Amino acid sequence: MHIAIIGNGIAGITAARYLRKLSSGCHISVISSETRHFYSRTALMYLYMGHLTYENLKPYEDRFWQKNRITLLHDHVNQIDFTQQCLHCSSGKVVYYDKLLLATGSKSNTLNCPGHNLQGVQGLYSLQDVQLMQQHTQGITHAVVAGGGLIGIEVAEMLRSKGIGVTFLVRENSYWNSILPPEESDMLNRHIRAHGVNLLLDTQIQAILPDEHGRVRAVMTTTGAEIACRFVAVTIGVQPNVDFLRQTGLEIDRGILVNQYLQTNLPNVFAAGDCAQLRQPLPGRKAIEQVWYTGRMQGITAALNLLNRETAYQPRIWFNSAKFFDLEYQTYGNVPPAPLPGQTQLYWQHPDGQKCLRLVYQTQTGALQGVNALGIRLRHDVAEKWLAQQTPAETVLTQFSTAIFDPEFTQPIEQALLNQYHLQNPGKQLRAVHKRSLWHTIFG
Ligand SMILES: Cc1cc2nc3c(=O)[nH]c(=O)nc-3n(C[C@H](O)[C@H](O)[C@H](O)COP(=O)(O)OP(=O)(O)OC[C@H]3O[C@@H](n4cnc5c(N)ncnc54)[C@H](O)[C@@H]3O)c2cc1C
Repeated sequence: MHIAIIGNGIAGITAARYLRKLSSGCHISVISSETRHFYSRTALMYLYMGHLTYENLKPYEDRFWQKNRITLLHDHVNQIDFTQQCLHCSSGKVVYYDKLLLATGSKSNTLNCPGHNLQGVQGLYSLQDVQLMQQHTQGITHAVVAGGGLIGIEVAEMLRSKGIGVTFLVRENSYWNSILPPEESDMLNRHIRAHGVNLLLDTQIQAILPDEHGRVRAVMTTTGAEIACRFVAVTIGVQPNVDFLRQTGLEIDRGILVNQYLQTNLPNVFAAGDCAQLRQPLPGRKAIEQVWYTGRMQGITAALNLLNRETAYQPRIWFNSAKFFDLEYQTYGNVPPAPLPGQTQLYWQHPDGQKCLRLVYQTQTGALQGVNALGIRLRHDVAEKWLAQQTPAETVLTQFSTAIFDPEFTQPIEQALLNQYHLQNPGKQLRAVHKRSLWHTIFG
């Protein structure tokens, strides 16, 4: 059996690896046009900043693929004939398949304003985007970043690392406040500004103005300001990369529609990762989750189903993490930007204004529903277990030290959280329960 995979990102490559683990007999081909080898897209920023080389971004040595009999084709699929079950590539090659996995990822959204296609205006998604950005930002002194999400802040950090002045335009009245509660969002507004970024809220690009060579020289904002700049990063989100699949028999909405087994409407065709849209997402989850972790989980599920081992996609507890300059962010479960009916939230912020924790729990039962941590790293396994077991918030609070990754912060933070809880619940008196650590058990 020949299984073809389009896309060598985390979804396609995880599927290929698991296919080989589960079946020694099948023939596996991965066709991808951006790079020959899989690399970590989430670490792209470090390539630009000079902290890592392209070789460092590859989690597997190049010989891994041959050793595991996974054929890599560095080619672009222009067209798929779903009836004949074959792929038509840019090189002229035609690849026949018995089963097909579509793992084509996302593409950056673009602006639709005058000047949007001038030289020096671009998004950040691929390795080629980083190379282009290196060219476009050579020797410049000021840049504009438009779009207040996770990629926007990464681009701001990348530019600042080269000493380039940055004006960061955010449409909302606080950074990423469609996702973050007001306190976390406000902490990030301050953090972004503390890193020398000119953060302009409630502001968007109206037009991008050219110089006489067709290169960006300034942007006009919706507030009427003209900002001189030689580079504009457009970071206004991504969308499934599925254009070449439209006008075929494949059912596509925003992404490729799949059932819980990641099967499309066409026989022998599956989809996973950023390009896939679940027809029936689980309650509280999105139909398209464009994050690394989901790509990996869906890659594993796709491999099982490609081999007829019927397995429904079961996302684990929602988790996402990011780094905002030097501030680490982790979120577990469901932390809405504003409390929902029936929920209680406990928020604690360190007096230095650079660390905070938020616990969300059901008011009636006390069951933990979500956790946000900024500036404090939590242990994934502990936080996930609490949420999966719907542990009561009071139990979580008395054992909070077990979740904190950096031991020097453990006790003060745990006590501060308890104090905050007592302030919100004057009748209660909880005490921390300290389990003896393995170190203490062994060394006394
Ligand atoms: C700069 C950046 C930072 C990020 N940081 C984080 C983070 O910190 N945490 C997190 O969870 N997520 C992060 N993400 C999102 C995460 O990287 C994506 O969710 C994930 O990489 C998607 O994986 P995928 O396998 O679905 O697709 P992709 O990684 O997009 O891979 C798809 C591949 O398929 C190729 N392809 C598409 N169409 C064709 C075709 N027709 N023929 C041949 N090849 C084709 C593409 O060129 C691409 O290489 C980040 C994304 C970006 C861009």
